[in-house]
Amino acid sequence: MEILKLSNVSLTYHSIKSETVALKDISFTVKDGEFVGIVGPSGCGKTTLLAILSKIMPPSSGEIRIKGLPLEQTSNKTALMPQRDQLFEWRSVERNVTLGLELQRKKNKNTVAEALNLLKKYGLYDFRKKKPSELSGGMRQRAALIRTLVTKPDILLLDEPFSALDYQTRIKVADDVYSIIKQEKKTVLLVTHDLAEAISLCDKIIVLTKRPGRIKTIIDIDIDKSKSPLKRRESNGFACYFDKLWNELED
Ligand code: ADP
Ligand code: MG
Repeated sequence: MEILKLSNVSLTYHSIKSETVALKDISFTVKDGEFVGIVGPSGCGKTTLLAILSKIMPPSSGEIRIKGLPLEQTSNKTALMPQRDQLFEWRSVERNVTLGLELQRKKNKNTVAEALNLLKKYGLYDFRKKKPSELSGGMRQRAALIRTLVTKPDILLLDEPFSALDYQTRIKVADDVYSIIKQEKKTVLLVTHDLAEAISLCDKIIVLTKRPGRIKTIIDIDIDKSKSPLKRRESNGFACYFDKLWNELED
């Protein structure tokens, strides 16, 4: 089933002196449970697209629907996990994870119990009283993901979620995050500049042109979905997709 539909979405930033067209005529659809990558040159509007989808700002034109309903009429259907994990150092892991509930005035016995359950399920319960600085990079990322999940969005928007981690950790954490997302049955839009990461995680990858970002092509990734992202990296065809994406981004 189709969960998200963008039709001719454009965004222009206005300042006193200038106009910057960041996105132009973006149209695509996403199916429920799909894992969609967004790649493109730096400054092409990827973060802008996620900001629009998380309702930080409306598009200048075009239409976005979630399950058929205009985005502006929906509430809490999307949740953004920003580029850095943005955990607050002065708050415990538990109080970081329940922050979204506080902001949405949904913090109560039940929702806190659900948050604690997620911490348990994903191995962070024993660390709930610790400060983020006491966690490993991978655990921080898991905490940030759980914070995003507790508000029960349908669509997760991940903006270069692994870019702060070193290579080895990034691959492990991507596997970890992928498995949590699949268990929680979420739909994902993942912005990344790491092509191998995109191929290993995604069902399809949207390639944007340089600014103003338009859709250059959409590539379906047909690699055994029962494998973990790490295993998919060793699949036949992986290198082929890499070349294809590389070439699309070159010209
Ligand atoms: P990406 O995430 O793909 O690197 P962004 O979405 O951050 O790109 O930015 C797209 C373009 O819009 C860039 O040229 C950037 O300089 C510009 N831009 C981003 N935010 C603003 C803003 N608040 N005001 C004006 N221009 C902006
Ligand atoms: Mg960005």
